[in-house]
Amino acid sequence: MNIRIDDITSEGLCFDTPVQQSRLDATLTDANTGCRALASVGVDVRLTKAGERIIVEGDLRTSLEVACRRCLGPIEVGLPVSFRMDLVPMRAGSRPEQDSSGQEIGEEVDSEGSFTLDSADREYYDGDTIDMWPILREQLFLALPDYPLCDQECKGLCQSCGIDLNSNECECDRFSVDPRWDALTKIKLP
Ligand SMILES: [Zn+2]
Ligand SMILES: [Zn+2]
Repeated sequence: MNIRIDDITSEGLCFDTPVQQSRLDATLTDANTGCRALASVGVDVRLTKAGERIIVEGDLRTSLEVACRRCLGPIEVGLPVSFRMDLVPMRAGSRPEQDSSGQEIGEEVDSEGSFTLDSADREYYDGDTIDMWPILREQLFLALPDYPLCDQECKGLCQSCGIDLNSNECECDRFSVDPRWDALTKIKLP
């Protein structure tokens, strides 16, 4: 998935090589995300030069299976990812001097070098090629759902017997395993 920087003309360069499902799946597994790829990744990205900077923007689309955080049931999640990032040459330091497009200059990196949202969208390139896969992979990982639920009302699993409370009932005294209820059980009603 390498792009030669010389191939990016003044009109820009379209990059639309899909990422194979097996490649995405192996990456998700290696990173212990608990997700499975259900499809390849559709890629529709454009690279344009702005001086020494290279602007990468576009969309990714794929479909994943993730586990519900409460009941662990499988959920199919469609991932449309839209992103834009700046690639700056490694040797040019942390910020470009000029921005011909006039965007976002001077606001994104403060003098303490703290990590801001904008600086997260800046990466470096080195040499005369760009490997697209790490860039696409990072965008996909950023888009993974933090707390997927099969349903906002998902009842989860019984903490005593592990049964799925969405479709089953059990005889467990679940209140007794929740220490937040301890005080209440000591109250004597008249
Ligand atoms: Zn659930
Ligand atoms: Zn139970």
